[in-house]
Amino acid sequence: MNTQTSASGRRDPRDLLLPELEQVVAQAGQPRFRVRQLAQWLYARRVEDFDSMSNLPVEFRRYLKNHFKLEHLEPLAVNRSLDGTVKLLLALGDRREIESVIIPTPQRVTLCISSQAGCAMGCAFCATARMGLERNLTTAEIIAEVIAASRHVDRGEHLTNYVFMGMGEPLANYPRLLRALTIMTAPWGLGISPRRITVSTVGLVPMIEKLMAETSVHLAVSLTATTNELRDRLAPINRRYPLEQLLETCRRLDLGRRRITFEYVMLAGVNDSAADAQRLARLLAPLRAKVNLIFFNPFPGAQFQPSSRAVVERFQSVLFRNNLTATIRESRGRDIAAACGQLRVEHHACAVGEE
Ligand code: SF4
Repeated sequence: MNTQTSASGRRDPRDLLLPELEQVVAQAGQPRFRVRQLAQWLYARRVEDFDSMSNLPVEFRRYLKNHFKLEHLEPLAVNRSLDGTVKLLLALGDRREIESVIIPTPQRVTLCISSQAGCAMGCAFCATARMGLERNLTTAEIIAEVIAASRHVDRGEHLTNYVFMGMGEPLANYPRLLRALTIMTAPWGLGISPRRITVSTVGLVPMIEKLMAETSVHLAVSLTATTNELRDRLAPINRRYPLEQLLETCRRLDLGRRRITFEYVMLAGVNDSAADAQRLARLLAPLRAKVNLIFFNPFPGAQFQPSSRAVVERFQSVLFRNNLTATIRESRGRDIAAACGQLRVEHHACAVGEE
């Protein structure tokens, strides 16, 4: 049995996989078909209150209430951008806070999901890094985050794509992430196609191999530098898993029909020269890869500036000439502080987009 507990000390049934839910139903002395009913309430109807599970017998509901708790993530702030981006600040049961961002485009509605409260990775271009790691989210909290965010999608729309690019390094919370991915993609769970889910990492090499072997989701790697010297500075994880090791691991992955997306945050005068673009093209030539060039979303106290559009387009054209697929990801929600970690900072003190 899984041992995750919610902040309240009682378990949330959304931490549990199907065999474990079956155990719960058996321990409660209920017939097997109650498992499907319970899963339907949790994931199809997304109810967060046992009393509302009207086709479950009263004694089973009482059993569930005595042994479990359904965490409801309370939105502390819901900021809507002029471009349609919605940024949510959600309170966990222990009052820690995470962010989720809904990014609508004409083709899709993407949810950017947090996997940790804060982050330990210390990337120099990231607002979340300043908070340090507070704690991992539980599986149930990740699922509750998806459910909470789905309630803030505009009427007539629904979430179509899911990216783990919010607060935290998802692969540093791997066991809980893997459970969450299982529940998100299971027919008895949220029933989302794994092809619509992308997990982004800053380069936790051993976990990349596990993720790609154990799931069918897409992989994104936040690269942002083409030399170890610069990457050591921008993404300190590089000191443990340098560029050569990261890229060699990516080259050896059994991707099937999947392709790796390399995220590259464009920082003015730091990593945006034509020579950087040439080096990036050389590094990625042996891979089935595409590149996402991302406008840096400045945050208070940031030591970088975003590259100009002309520079980003010139960078992209160098990649094109080297036969790489490269898209420019527009900065979304600038008017609502959409850089990851920024809303939380602003909430107290005062990027994502279409691929
Ligand atoms: S970019 Fe991602 S991995 Fe790096 S500090 Fe920010 S949240 Fe953590």
